[in-house]
Amino acid sequence: MTHSQANLISAKMDSRCHHRNDVVGRASEGDTPRFADITTMGVGGRIARFVQPQDTRGFIDAVRAADGEGRALCIIGGGSNLLADDGDFPGVVVRDARREIVVEDASIRRREPAEADGPGGAAVCEGIADSAGVVRQTGSDAAGVAVKSQGAKYRDGAQCGRCGKDMVLLSATAGTNWDDFVLYCTQRGFSGVQGLSGIPGTVGASVVQNIGAYGQEVADCVDSVDVWDRLTSREIRLSRGDCEFGYRTSLLKASMYRAPGVPADRFFPTPRFVVLSVRFRLLKASDCTVTSGQLASVLGVGTGDSMPGSAVRAAVIAVRARKGMLEDPYRYDGRWMAGTRRLENIEAAKSQLDRELQDSSESPKLNAGAPHAERARILALKADRHSCGSFFMNPILTEEQARHLPADAPRYPVDVGVSSPLAPGHDASPLRERPEGSSVVKTSAAWLIDHAGFHKGFVLADGSGRAGLSDVHTLALTNRGGASSDDVLRLAQAIKRGVLDSFGVVLVPEPVVLGSTIG
Ligand SMILES: Cc1cc2nc3c(=O)[nH]c(=O)nc-3n(C[C@H](O)[C@H](O)[C@H](O)COP(=O)(O)OP(=O)(O)OC[C@H]3O[C@@H](n4cnc5c(N)ncnc54)[C@H](O)[C@@H]3O)c2cc1C
Repeated sequence: MTHSQANLISAKMDSRCHHRNDVVGRASEGDTPRFADITTMGVGGRIARFVQPQDTRGFIDAVRAADGEGRALCIIGGGSNLLADDGDFPGVVVRDARREIVVEDASIRRREPAEADGPGGAAVCEGIADSAGVVRQTGSDAAGVAVKSQGAKYRDGAQCGRCGKDMVLLSATAGTNWDDFVLYCTQRGFSGVQGLSGIPGTVGASVVQNIGAYGQEVADCVDSVDVWDRLTSREIRLSRGDCEFGYRTSLLKASMYRAPGVPADRFFPTPRFVVLSVRFRLLKASDCTVTSGQLASVLGVGTGDSMPGSAVRAAVIAVRARKGMLEDPYRYDGRWMAGTRRLENIEAAKSQLDRELQDSSESPKLNAGAPHAERARILALKADRHSCGSFFMNPILTEEQARHLPADAPRYPVDVGVSSPLAPGHDASPLRERPEGSSVVKTSAAWLIDHAGFHKGFVLADGSGRAGLSDVHTLALTNRGGASSDDVLRLAQAIKRGVLDSFGVVLVPEPVVLGSTIG
């Protein structure tokens, strides 16, 4: 097979579906999960209807049906950025069961006219088997979506404008597990997403909040996003610029809120734009740049140095493990999570967690205590993984607001996203963090929380101890075992008020809070 023949590689993720709801577009009434079963926090009430469409048409139909019936709609991915309340949810929860990655060889792009109308412009290509043994023959859009190009042009060819290296275009369906995607890219020598290793959730949700960590954001490597627009009932393609990415926000997320943390009337808890697939533009390079000082020190190199992508990924996972910033891989043993992540990756994550727990229980300090103390410690370690990650966003303050902070409070420069004329009728301004041109700074939510008296391991004085701050990360609110959504909400409220009283800063939650508000 020649290079040009092998230009479409499809990797259907081996999401083995164990449950009868994993049937094309079938809705289930009666036998449905609770949010507690499908979220990383492990809290939340019963869902009235749960649908897991396995093809694009079924996905769109499920969204259209819910919208047409006027039922509340919640698209869920990995449930890692969602805090649902304890009451029953009367609406429809849709989880995209398509888990597919398609690599388009950059050589196709070189031959395309500058005004090419999206991936359908590619010639018929020979599908080849990837390591999972799945063959897909296609010459049309990988996700089978009849996309309309809206500003996604490829005039810049197949080389990176900055470093001159070859680029590769990959598409992944919304339901693809994010870390499966990162691992897939790393194993094939595609670089650009390694700093985002270990973030739970899905490709679809990654662009909603513009996930970021260790000096990288997903926006850095997004080429375009294919969406279903619930307002106009159309499939459209959003270019990277159209997405209005900013710090933990995007045009998609903005459509859910009328002010920071205040849900919009119409499109909540799911955006106006439902992500069908995301197209990424990555470097064809097995090395990648180390983008944060923290990673650089783990790797023993300098910031900006190049390291193999696999080494960067390993360093990120190690740092995340220490901070409880990985999900509990055992959650995929649950009936309602089975099949949503690649099995071999779940097993690898379990082995790593087991080693971590083993190491901690073998430490002399822990063994000095009674056996039940060791066990409690192990459970606590696991519980540190039952969270939504960082619960509050780092506040963006005007210079005037920042002046009132203590002198030693962290202050970082802010890179504010650009706005776009796309999506007529939609006003993203409520989420915009500052008026254009004015000067703002970002401070650290973790610093504010800690200095307001809420330290790692903090639990409310009500004696339950079910919800608390992570023992290893001030920003993570954790379910320490048996917590209800109400427990987590009361903790969040106490912290929010404490920070407001101490520093006059209003913290905004990062997760989507469904059915309640954090007053
Ligand atoms: C341990 C831990 C660590 C984390 N670390 C980080 C981190 O470092 N950086 C970071 O940015 N985030 C982090 N997060 C937060 C979270 O993982 C991300 O926000 C992730 O992208 C959420 O994905 P999800 O599929 O779980 O989304 P969900 O929680 O299922 O949904 C979140 C929102 O996205 C919407 N959504 C989901 N799929 C679609 C779709 N196809 N189309 C439109 N809307 C959709 C939902 O309706 C909802 O509004 C962390 C979370 C945990 C638990």
